[in-house]
Amino acid sequence: MSDKIIKPEDEWKNQLSEEAYYVTRKKGTERPFTGKYYYLDDEGIYKCICCGNPLFRSDTKFDAGCGWPSFYEPVSESSVVYEDDLSFGMERKEVKCGKCDAHLGHLFEDGPAPTGLRFCINSVSLDFDIKNPD
Ligand SMILES: [Zn+2]
Repeated sequence: MSDKIIKPEDEWKNQLSEEAYYVTRKKGTERPFTGKYYYLDDEGIYKCICCGNPLFRSDTKFDAGCGWPSFYEPVSESSVVYEDDLSFGMERKEVKCGKCDAHLGHLFEDGPAPTGLRFCINSVSLDFDIKNPD
């Protein structure tokens, strides 16, 4: 459907904050309970900080108590892509932006209904578009 966005590393580096670059392009993780979107409860859409691709809706966000923004469902099936992550001796599913492959977080299968999924996402990988109150 959509073409992948591919940019050289130094272009991402110029475009992003140091922390966003570290998390999205180097598969880093922000410290829990520090992210700016963890406690955010406003209505709107969370987008990829790198390319603006819409990723998660605020009405699928829930408090998993884990310290990172958590969602039970992406905006659409093609919003995100998955990759097996065997680092740190764990078997996890990495969640990446479907458009630019930015590292977003991980997927776990202990989320709430209706999907039973928990997308555990770094705030710093996200940009928030507040819904217009009108
Ligand atoms: Zn992206």
